[in-house]
Amino acid sequence: MRRIILFITVSVIFIACGVTKISKTINTYEESEKNREEKSPQSVPVPIITAVSNTGLNQKKGTTEISIEPSKFHAKEVVNLDINDGKALYLDNEKPGYEIWESVKTYEYEPVSDNPKRAMFVMSITNRSEMPLLLKNYGFILKMGNETWTKTDGFKKAWTDDMILTGETKEIPIDGITKDNIKDGTVYTFFLNGFPTKFNKAGDVTERQNFTWVFKCNIKNEDKERRKVYTYEPRLIPSKQCEKCTGKGHLSELVTCPNCKGSGTSLLLKSVACSKCDGKGKVYATCDNCSGKGILYFPQSGGKHRGVKSSVTLNGWKIKVVTKPAGANIKLIDPQTGEYNVLKGTTPGSIEWLCKSGGTCPIIIESMGKKVKVLPFDAKGKESGAINVDFTKDVPVVKGGKVVE
Ligand SMILES: [Zn+2]
Ligand SMILES: [Zn+2]
Repeated sequence: MRRIILFITVSVIFIACGVTKISKTINTYEESEKNREEKSPQSVPVPIITAVSNTGLNQKKGTTEISIEPSKFHAKEVVNLDINDGKALYLDNEKPGYEIWESVKTYEYEPVSDNPKRAMFVMSITNRSEMPLLLKNYGFILKMGNETWTKTDGFKKAWTDDMILTGETKEIPIDGITKDNIKDGTVYTFFLNGFPTKFNKAGDVTERQNFTWVFKCNIKNEDKERRKVYTYEPRLIPSKQCEKCTGKGHLSELVTCPNCKGSGTSLLLKSVACSKCDGKGKVYATCDNCSGKGILYFPQSGGKHRGVKSSVTLNGWKIKVVTKPAGANIKLIDPQTGEYNVLKGTTPGSIEWLCKSGGTCPIIIESMGKKVKVLPFDAKGKESGAINVDFTKDVPVVKGGKVVE
């Protein structure tokens, strides 16, 4: 179901020709965005490393067993955290005090190693001889393509420092090779030159052999979908207490009550005290810094509203309704829905009469089982700010209103 968002943006009051005119604009705003996802194709370069020599990954020669295991990669979806937390778009029409934020996250695929902490190649040496293997005594060459690869500081250090005791297996990561510096078709050659494979009982090397591994690295592009996820959520508008009025909304200076113009009494009944100033005739001045709210708001959206889909302006004026006897019901039409709202036993009292241009919007006043349907115009057709109905007569007598029907 489509939701219609109504919001009253303008409410103007001015006095003309003896009646207090009022005007309200009711806007219907565009619907809010829904959370959504945009998909686009993504080609993910996944490295695939294969052994091309016929010697096998694991090579066992004499008392020495050495293997080199390459990493396996797969395309994995990861969130791109570089995108910021979002931006405030506009004020929330449904939740006052909130604004709608949009956040965007991109989920992209990346080539990821099955064991991301592991080096791309790991050499593993097992010593089955009775003598310790002191690695720095033996040669090692790594070639990338036809060039000697030198960016293996961690490997070089391990090769210089490590000693493998009898029965021990040592893993030495071959660092410096990453998925970012390999190219499609790169060939890696690992060569151990004259590595001991047998000792005599005196501990002398009696046999040395060469160990060779050749790996080819290919980049295979996998077709995936990149997702851009848009999320919309209401967040509280940042606010702080007004410093000028310390959150009270009013200042300490007293001004004439705008409701009773200082008289202290209700404008309709002089015997009733003014509800705004409680009969004092003076009220505290409204704080101009916060417009009486006591709180200052800092909308991150700049206080923007959503785009207006349609707009209706209602015009009318304030009307005092007095009845005999008092306590009549007033039915006022809601110009938006066309339905009547009942104000029970409100006379004497003041109503805000509003109507769409071209509409009629009669007021129904009911008492003593009788009712009148009137428009706020006097006998001369002029706008009337006061309607008086006497229900004590057989036929109600209306003053200041034009009876319809
Ligand atoms: Zn007052
Ligand atoms: Zn203030």
